[in-house]
Amino acid sequence: MTQLLYLDDSYLKRFTATVIEVVDDGVILDRTAFYPGGGGQPHDTGKILFRNLESLVTSMKREGPIHVIEGQLPEVGEEITGIVDWERRYRIMRTHTAVHVISGVAYRDFGVSITGNQLYEGRARVDLSFDNLSRDLVKRIIEESNSVINEDLKVKVYYLTREEFKQRPELMRVNSKLYEKYDRIRVVEIEGFDAQADGGTHVRSLREIGKIVLEKYESKGRKNKRIYVRVEND
Ligand SMILES: [Zn+2]
Repeated sequence: MTQLLYLDDSYLKRFTATVIEVVDDGVILDRTAFYPGGGGQPHDTGKILFRNLESLVTSMKREGPIHVIEGQLPEVGEEITGIVDWERRYRIMRTHTAVHVISGVAYRDFGVSITGNQLYEGRARVDLSFDNLSRDLVKRIIEESNSVINEDLKVKVYYLTREEFKQRPELMRVNSKLYEKYDRIRVVEIEGFDAQADGGTHVRSLREIGKIVLEKYESKGRKNKRIYVRVEND
């Protein structure tokens, strides 16, 4: 089992770990700060250092998780230093928290649900479900999201037991079944504003997001709308 360091420290960029398995194209480590991908958040990239060598981590496979390596592979038992491509990850973190703000505003103020999202580096696709959701309403959701960001609320991470979690159905926003297999459920809370069960990486306070810009609005039918947003430095 790999200890997932990013769960408790999203800002960890550099770490040391021991190789516990070498596979065809990569390695499994005893601990990692590399996000393996999942929940709409893309995997990290970066590099590993060992002996006097430097190899690239070009991708991650969730099973393992496997760090897919380009270059020479270390051996089982070797200690490596892992370095996450921080520019990419930080843009993804800002985007991830931005989507939670949008989701919180949509849910709290307009009763609009988010049915799915895909994050990219600085951009996101968000699927919204609501009867006759108009472009104007989407614009209002984004405007209100930017006012929430300006309040610079803190973002915190904590865990609930499965029993505690069952008492709070509002935490299951996108996929309720996903969390049934965990004993402890990780919650990401934008203090006093929004809380969701979530396994991704987030910024510590909303100001770090910058500003959300609506790029595109698409109607996918009466109830389903798809929007594309990006985050910009304020
Ligand atoms: Zn999330």
